[in-house]
Amino acid sequence: MDDELNPLAMARQQLDQVAERIHLEPDVHEKLKHCKRTLIVAVPTSMDDGSLRVFTGYRVHHNLARGPAKGGIRYHPGVSLDEVSALAMWMTWKCALMDIPFGGAKGGVICSPKEMSLRELERMTRRLTSEMMIILGPDKDIPAPDINTNAQTMAWILDTYSMNVGHSVPSVVTGKPVSVGGSRGREDATGRGCVCTMREALAHLGLPIAGARVAVQGFGNVGRATARLAQQAGARVVAVSDEWGGVYHPHGLDIDAVIRHDRQVGRVGGFAGSDAVTNAELLELECEVLIPAALGHQLTQANAGRVRARMVVEGANGPTTPAADQILNDRGIFLLPDILANAGGVTVSYFEWVQGLMEYFWTEEEVNERLERLLRQAFADVLRTSLQEKVPMRVAAYMLAVSRVAEATRIRGKYP
Ligand code: GLU
Repeated sequence: MDDELNPLAMARQQLDQVAERIHLEPDVHEKLKHCKRTLIVAVPTSMDDGSLRVFTGYRVHHNLARGPAKGGIRYHPGVSLDEVSALAMWMTWKCALMDIPFGGAKGGVICSPKEMSLRELERMTRRLTSEMMIILGPDKDIPAPDINTNAQTMAWILDTYSMNVGHSVPSVVTGKPVSVGGSRGREDATGRGCVCTMREALAHLGLPIAGARVAVQGFGNVGRATARLAQQAGARVVAVSDEWGGVYHPHGLDIDAVIRHDRQVGRVGGFAGSDAVTNAELLELECEVLIPAALGHQLTQANAGRVRARMVVEGANGPTTPAADQILNDRGIFLLPDILANAGGVTVSYFEWVQGLMEYFWTEEEVNERLERLLRQAFADVLRTSLQEKVPMRVAAYMLAVSRVAEATRIRGKYP
């Protein structure tokens, strides 16, 4: 694979860039380049036609100096060990930036979930959980949803883990349904975080949110909530897309109506009164805010020169390659990095974990209020660092995050 598109090479390059700036000692730098532990499992699964398929699953812990392992599990045909490792590393920085007491982890299974039935997904998830039992636990490693996994997936993991240990352990996962100990507000949390940080960034740039044109790539959990909440905040969502393509209207789409249409036909395409756009075209639309909220490496050196947004908000993990970062920065496009823009999800995961351990549950207003407070604080810290150090927002976010992880790594010392 071209190095620009290898996620682990990209994650390491981002770390190297910051290591020099914060004068990271070579030993700590070396440690942070590597993932602490990797579990690769075979997941034999009975398919509905009676055949057996063996899927490959990964769970990677990057660094646990600040707390137990935290991060989602994704189901996608493009999952690879390098991708899961990079995503684990990004989780370490994201948790540190938000100052929540977790280390970074990620999991993934190479599969095509859209071609699998609900029962097949359940059997695969339960077997995956049994195979991962040795590293999971509410004080060891706490999975959450990611691409193509959701609250139902978390309920299966919770149930399988609990059946094996002999009692209910809701805090072994977050992003679970509210009926089994999930947090109010978790489902919308990532989108809410994108919109909250976008609002702060627009204010910094002196652009009003009312009427701001927003284009959202991706209509999964993150894209959908982001589009809906951006519209509620007064923005004009001019385009949204899914894996089959997108829809565009220069005066703004009615997002609730697009959500209803998507529920009926299974895609956003064909929404009444809209024009069709491809995913590639959506990224190059003229707008104030472009929000890639689908897969990684969407903005590369091949298309970054054609982005016509004033600002990029990374709803997805790793949508911008370092080469594209440079191009966007040179062109004066303000970028809110993933570890800040999409940190709302893991932040409410933290609240969910805390509520579960206390067995005391908060209202949705309390969750949202606390989430926005933490995000506004993190945004202000990153912006201050960016202005003081005269570096882009991603570098500033990394400087804060990596310094915190390095400090914990340093003070704990090396064992043995
Ligand atoms: N998968 C989400 C992320 O990439 C959430 C992780 C979590 O809540 O643990 O941030």
